[in-house]
Amino acid sequence: MTKEEKAEYAKEYYEANKVKIKLRSKEYRRNNKEKKALQDKIYRDNNKEKVASHSKQWALENKEKRKTSVKKWALKNKDKVMQIQKRYYENLELKNSDISKRALKAWSFQIKKRDNYTCQMCCSTEKLHAHHIFSKSKHPTLALILNNGITLCEACHMEEHALNGDI
Ligand SMILES: [Zn+2]
Ligand SMILES: [Zn+2]
Repeated sequence: MTKEEKAEYAKEYYEANKVKIKLRSKEYRRNNKEKKALQDKIYRDNNKEKVASHSKQWALENKEKRKTSVKKWALKNKDKVMQIQKRYYENLELKNSDISKRALKAWSFQIKKRDNYTCQMCCSTEKLHAHHIFSKSKHPTLALILNNGITLCEACHMEEHALNGDI
């Protein structure tokens, strides 16, 4: 068979079996969904920094989109959100044992007062937290510095920790 003949044959074969081929590739894709998800997960695990910086960049460029998608996600995954929160507060408890709670309370009060009792991400004035920009656990010497604090509402605070973790 010449090249042209082969190409002609392939074309004819495709035309004659269009439906079958399409069905088969659909099935193939469906069967490989799990495999693909696994591959993606492995890729993410192996390229954590790359993925993190990518998503950080994306988040910066798509602040509004990100906010609605996180909110949507949070509504659909209330259990997960609770878990994240619980873990966060448990960690906080552990990490804080060496920093005076009273001092932290005073620090948090100062931060909120300075920020006019307003979330600095979404301007909400409800359920406000004082968030450490550099985490207390990794930077205990910055724990009570006013410049290291920012006022965030509960939702934005959760989002911040869920997406960026501790710096
Ligand atoms: Zn925080
Ligand atoms: Zn907020």
